[in-house]
Amino acid sequence: MLLVLSAASVSTATASFAFAQPTSDLTAIPILWHIALMADGEPPALSRPNIPITWREPVPPEVQRAIVPYLNRYATLFPGWLEDLSVAYDPDREASMATSINYRNRWVILRVTGEWLMLPQRERDVAVLHEITHVLLAPLQNVTEEIKKSFLKEDAFAREMVDDGFESVCEDVARAIQRVGVMFSGLK
Ligand SMILES: [Zn+2]
Repeated sequence: MLLVLSAASVSTATASFAFAQPTSDLTAIPILWHIALMADGEPPALSRPNIPITWREPVPPEVQRAIVPYLNRYATLFPGWLEDLSVAYDPDREASMATSINYRNRWVILRVTGEWLMLPQRERDVAVLHEITHVLLAPLQNVTEEIKKSFLKEDAFAREMVDDGFESVCEDVARAIQRVGVMFSGLK
């Protein structure tokens, strides 16, 4: 049965995250709570309540205000190995969003672009989920990169197939998580 969270539980959870209070309408309870609440019992604490955030200068305040609600929304999805999450603003980059990942040293830089700021809310959402999926797959991606270097050095087509596969999987997972969000938290 789906239970309803008390207001007290919601405010405690939001305040425990490292970001400022979100100001947009994307303040829904993290979606995994909704899934967890389908089983009996109390909601779990956020699994990543205090990831240190570094703003890579210059990130204008309006960009910070735009991205924070999305990061708050999906805080629970960041993997346990992530120790340092930075956010950079790269207005001219030709992509909706990009991520630099260093699994070995446990840091990630999420790059917000001008293109992302122009997207409608739902496409912004899936772009953030796509990048988080890249972060989740980083350990596998590292192994794959080593295999490409060792065994596919002479085979550009095979390397491209592997890269395409990663991109497709990230997009599929992002859209799957978003569909769950639509089902359980009313995201439109
Ligand atoms: Zn990608």
